[in-house]
This record gives sequence, structure tokens and C-alpha cells, in this order.
Amino acid sequence: MTADQVRDWIRRFSGAVAEHRAELVALDTAIGDGDHGTNMDRGMKKALEKLDSQEGADIGALLKTVAMALISSVGGAAGPLYGTLFLQMGTSAAGKEQLDLAGWTAALESGIKGVQARGKAEPGDKTMIDALLPALAALESADGDMGAALAKAADAAEEGMKATIPLEARKGRASYLGPRSVGHQDPGATSSYLLMRSAAEALSE
Ligand code: ADP
Ligand code: MG
Repeated sequence: MTADQVRDWIRRFSGAVAEHRAELVALDTAIGDGDHGTNMDRGMKKALEKLDSQEGADIGALLKTVAMALISSVGGAAGPLYGTLFLQMGTSAAGKEQLDLAGWTAALESGIKGVQARGKAEPGDKTMIDALLPALAALESADGDMGAALAKAADAAEEGMKATIPLEARKGRASYLGPRSVGHQDPGATSSYLLMRSAAEALSE
């Protein structure tokens, strides 16, 4: 993945969040406070604006810009958590103008570790982690073609997202609902699926 493809990934994610904004709001209205779609849309628009005014091909620097935009413009749980994801990915990719499959996988792993260090979510807690970890596992078991690996990762994230429906939330606002959180898809897992699908699309073009 080149720096231009990283820019394309972020542009696609921003577009996907805008397109699915109402759906993300509806999901968060069911088990939270209904702001996930608006939060992420505001943050990613800001991130894209900053990215478009930034020169250079250092992927680490690009991802850090996305992180800072999210951290500074999005309140709530998901802004800082996505900020941490991009910040740690950026640290892993610092100084690199290209990421191969191993490099991209290592960056995602660092990002997820950051999210877990900050939010303390474990698999099965009904959070964004439940989409991201299956994607990481798919990348780790892939070999060769990066586009195919990212497509598999997106499929795994989609499965993980759907698998949050029967779970009871143990982290974040949804956990206040206890058993009443069962039967709803997690909004953060849904946006994380969009993040992985956007990455696959950026490489398939
Ligand atoms: P808030 O819950 O503050 O309103 P958002 O609605 O933007 O923030 O984001 C909610 C999403 O954040 C949840 O659907 C979940 O996926 C994710 N989330 C919340 N708490 C955590 C956590 N501790 N670790 C990982 N993800 C979390
Ligand atoms: Mg919310």
C-alpha cells in the first residue's frame, strides 16, 4: 500500500461513514446515545480536510494526522479509541512510504493493541474490537497478494460485526443496558467493518 493508497483508504472510509451515518446513528440509538454516526462523520471529514492539506508520502505522518483530527474533534468513546488506533498504526508505519502485507498487518496489530490498552475491551465485549480482531487474524493467516488478504480481512470484520448482535455489551455506554443490549449490532463494530472494507477497496482499484 502506497501513501496515495493510504489517502484513498481514508477518503473511502470518510465517504462510507457519511453514507452510513444514519445507520450508525440508528444502531447507537438502540443501545447508546445515538451519536456514533454524527461523531464519526464529523471526525472523518476533519481528518480528510487535514490530510488533503498535507504534503508528503510518509504513511506514518499521514496516519498520525488522521489520529490527531479524530482526537481533537470527536468526543465520546469512539473518537479517542479510533484516534489511538490510527496513532499506533502511524507509529508502526513511521518513515515508511509503502507498506507490504506484513507491514500493514503489524501496523494494524499495534493499533488494536492501543485500543485495547486504552479501552480494556476483550473479544466478545460487543465493541469495535470484535470486528478488528477477526480482520487481524485473517491478515495474519493470509499470504501473498495484499488485495486478496485485505478483502478476506474485510469479510472477517463483517462476520465479527454480525456476531456482536447476540452479545451482551460489557464496555461503553451499551453495557449500562446489560441484557437489553442483546439483539442489537454494535455501532463501533459496524464502523470498524467499514474501515476494513475501505482498505480492501483502496487496494482493489
Ligand atoms: P459514546 O459511547 O461515548 O457515545 P460512540 O457512540 O461514538 O461513543 O461510540 C460507541 C462505540 O464505541 C461502541 O459501539 C463500541 O464499539 C465502542 N466502544 C465503547 N467503549 C469501548 C471500549 N472500552 N473499548 C472498545 N470500544 C469501545
Ligand atoms: Mg454514542
